[in-house]
Amino acid sequence: MLNFKELPAVKKQLMKCVRCGKCRSVCPVFEEIKNETVAPRGHVFMVQMLRDGQVAPSRQVGEHLSNCLLCETCTVNCPSGIDIHELNAAARSYVYDKNKNAAKDLLFDKFWTNPSLIAAGVKCMSFAQKLGLQTLFRNIGLTKLLPGDLSKAEKILTSAPSRSARSRLAPVNAAKKDKKLRIGYFLGCATNVLYPDVALATVKVLVNNGCEVIIPENLKCYGLPHIANGKIGAARELMIHNIKEFQKYDPDYIITDCASCSSALESKNLEFLFAGSPYEESARQLSEKVMDLCVLLIEVLNIKIPEGSRASEKEPSPKITYHDPCHLVNAQGVSKAPRELLQRIPGAEYREMDLAQRCCGGSGTFSLTHYDLSMKILDRKMKSAQKTGADIIATNCPSCIMQLKHGVRLHNLSAQVKHPVEIISDFY
Ligand code: SF4
Ligand code: SF4
Repeated sequence: MLNFKELPAVKKQLMKCVRCGKCRSVCPVFEEIKNETVAPRGHVFMVQMLRDGQVAPSRQVGEHLSNCLLCETCTVNCPSGIDIHELNAAARSYVYDKNKNAAKDLLFDKFWTNPSLIAAGVKCMSFAQKLGLQTLFRNIGLTKLLPGDLSKAEKILTSAPSRSARSRLAPVNAAKKDKKLRIGYFLGCATNVLYPDVALATVKVLVNNGCEVIIPENLKCYGLPHIANGKIGAARELMIHNIKEFQKYDPDYIITDCASCSSALESKNLEFLFAGSPYEESARQLSEKVMDLCVLLIEVLNIKIPEGSRASEKEPSPKITYHDPCHLVNAQGVSKAPRELLQRIPGAEYREMDLAQRCCGGSGTFSLTHYDLSMKILDRKMKSAQKTGADIIATNCPSCIMQLKHGVRLHNLSAQVKHPVEIISDFY
């Protein structure tokens, strides 16, 4: 059970709010709903009232708190340095503990903690899609029976691959030429089952740049979906498991191609989960090695992408724009390395979009639970991407990739959505 009132964010930060409203002016949800109860400042008030017992931790309060992407835009803009998203996440868990839901417990405690079940679930979905069952069920109205927003959001989940990355990659991948580094690759669930080509590209680019790549076989989810859904206890258990897994190897760096995974493994989130616990020190040691893939390729390996070896040389040089995942730009302050990487692609033209650092509305499970709101936020992003005239929208988070691909379909655009490493792997 979460000791809500004793959490450092709840104990130390609430009194720092000076009611300036800066957080409100940058919040993508407030921009759409224009209601103080869904503004970050409103969430801060709500947490305060929960702490002081002025409101009960009811299901309704949980619904108010769920109107937040946990995108951290408010946090990075708050002049008082309040971790607003952490307050919200902590309050969600406090409220959830008092309003448990058996279906949600089953989904997050049994299914989402078991990589084999996740892979089997996606395989079934792939099979059903190949047989045309998803379209058939949609056409005859059966998908309308799905709970909550899933009846609309199922359209986002298209083209599930039949094989996971794990089934196509060896656990140990030797460096080509001279070995410079030993890399532990945190292969996240979404990349593994939904975007295996990204994982294959990651390994290909790393081994061609002198890295031995180890993919620990027993890794589990990093726990952010659990935090977002009020299950901090489950997130802690998952992270303890992953810390122990990485302790079996001695990598120079632990990398991931997923912005959400790296944000979950970096020091701020681990401090949130483990401050004052017996796991604080091992979590700190893990986080010191964690790095986003693009940062490693640019700042550590300083790679030069080979010219003239592009797999499909007949294609014209692409125009590329970039969407910053919130978990990379806000949670980790990473924005230069992915752009630098894209600008090093031989023959490519990089075009910045005006709303590059604005949330796309995907935010893990948010688009599945708040479909209509998520689509309004996506709309602004797609218009911004479209204005650049880019052929490729690059981004490095599977949740953003899924959301932007859905946006491309909704807006009838011809642009492709790709991870930067997928684009550069063509050159090796
Ligand atoms: S920006 Fe920070 S200090 Fe200002 S109202 Fe929001 S939470 Fe309070
Ligand atoms: S985390 Fe994002 S969506 Fe949530 S309150 Fe802050 S700015 Fe708004």
